[in-house]
Formats: sequence, C-alpha cells, structure tokens
Amino acid sequence: MRPEKTSVKGRVDLHVHTTASDGTWRPAEVVREALELGLEAVGIADHDTVEGLAGAMEEGRRLSLEVVPGVEINTEDRGKEIHLLGYYVEPTPQFTGLLQNMRQARFDRMAEMVDKLRGLGMEVSRERILEIAGDAAPGRPHAARALVEKGYVQSVREAFERYLDIGRPAYVERFRLTPARAVEAILAAGGVPVLAHPGLIGDDLYIPALVEKGLKGLEVYHPAHDRSTSLHYLKMARHYGLLATGGSDCHGPAAGQPVLLGTVTVPRAVIEELQEARE
Ligand code: AMP
Ligand code: ZN
Ligand code: FE
Ligand code: FE
Repeated sequence: MRPEKTSVKGRVDLHVHTTASDGTWRPAEVVREALELGLEAVGIADHDTVEGLAGAMEEGRRLSLEVVPGVEINTEDRGKEIHLLGYYVEPTPQFTGLLQNMRQARFDRMAEMVDKLRGLGMEVSRERILEIAGDAAPGRPHAARALVEKGYVQSVREAFERYLDIGRPAYVERFRLTPARAVEAILAAGGVPVLAHPGLIGDDLYIPALVEKGLKGLEVYHPAHDRSTSLHYLKMARHYGLLATGGSDCHGPAAGQPVLLGTVTVPRAVIEELQEARE
C-alpha cells in the first residue's frame, strides 16, 4: 500500500488528519512520514480544528518540507453530511471562536450521550471518553471505544449499530454549521474553501449554491472516488472555474486499515493555484 518514492515525486497530498482530530499520527509525525515517503508537500486538514497546524508547520520548517495549512469543517445540509476544506485560513478571533464553539458543543453533547448510555444500563465515564479522545474533541468513535473497553459490545462497529448510529438509542445530534456558512467563514478568514470528497455525498444539487457563495475548489481526487467519479468532478470543476484538489484523507495507522498517506496526490502546481485563490 505504501506508494513508491518515484511515484510521489513532485506531488502533494493535501488532506491528512492528525491527533488534533481523529488521526493517529501527531502533527510532527505526519510531516516526517510525508518527507520519508518523498512527498513534495503535505496538507493538514483536521476536523473542526487548527490546533495541529503549529506543530506541523514547525516540523516542516525544521525538515524543509512544505506544509499547507488547512481545516476540514463538518457541516450539514438537510440531513446530508458535507465537509468543507479551508486552506490558508488565518486564525482570526472570529474563525477560531467559531471552531471553539463547535468544540465546546462536542463536549456538551458527549455529556448527554453518557447520560443516555447510563439510562440504558451502561456505566461508561465521561472522563474515560475524554481520555480516549486525547487532544481531540470527543466524538462517537471515542464513546464506542469506551463501550468496547467495558465489554458492553465486541467492536466499535457493534457500538454504532446498537447504540450510536443515527436513530439508535444513545445518539445525540451535534451542532453543525451549514455548508454555506462554512464557506463564508473560510472566506472571511482569508482562506480558500474547497468541497471535500463530493463523491461521498450522494448528489450534486447543493453545489451551485456553494459556488454562488464563493466556493473555490472541488476535491476531485480522493480514495473514495473511482476514476469516473474523479472525471465527473474534474469536468464540474472546469465548468465552474474551480480548482481541482486532492488528497488521501489519511488518518494514520489504525488496526486493520492501510495507511493512506501519499496514495492520492496532485501536482505541486495545485498549491500555487490555492495561494493565488486567496483573497
Ligand atoms: P461524530 O462526529 O462524533 O458524530 O462521529 C462521527 C464519526 O464516527 C465519523 O467520522 C466516523 O469516523 C464514525 N462513524 C460514523 N458511523 C460509524 C459506523 N457505523 N461505524 C463506525 N464508525 C462510524
Ligand atoms: Zn476523520
Ligand atoms: Fe471528510
Ligand atoms: Fe478528512
């Protein structure tokens, strides 16, 4: 699964997670791994946080590997989960305040989830879930791991199926922005909004309105996109005059899953296009 050095020469992976959200490599480790693989640059895009960027940028300077700062904002529109990448956002008080609110909402929601689990007869502690989450804001995967640990379920998958999935008894909604609001926030912070993995969303009907709002790119290349899906979004990007970005959505090494870093890349020139697209 590890790509050959020659195959990533001059290429960049613009979508990688760290322990600042739900990845397993620390930010500096991602940079070292990217260098080791022979990537020309690496883009960090953690869910709803920019906390991992400083460590990654610092390691990038130390090792002379270019790091592209980004964020992946999880939004919702009419029941659909839509992710927006924001590259080169400035950490303005408004922008970091918005992320901070989203983070706080995750803690509040986890308290509610623990109450529901208790009501179902399962004693999992909020403290343990926060410990499992580490630097990240707590999410359902962390609650699932706590349930496995306590022996209430055999696997994370079973935890979701029985308790945590939408419609299951311990599910709690969490506060989410709309995609339009996320595009606005990214633009207001001087960043470049790019729609993440559009092929995962199911339809394209919501895209024109985002373009209208100032969307600047589509993540055309992603592990969940087959060739025809990428081609479809490449054509759409050309149609709307949007940038075509890509990345592996690597979450680092995890049990039973391949490490994706460097498996989906785009030419270095895409970074220049992103920089030119900044306002
Ligand atoms: P949260 O943001 O706390 O609502 O958790 C969402 C995360 O849970 C997603 O990013 C997935 O990684 C994970 N997830 C969602 N559904 C499932 C499932 N059925 N099985 C395992 N993991 C899931
Ligand atoms: Zn993730
Ligand atoms: Fe995503
Ligand atoms: Fe991602």
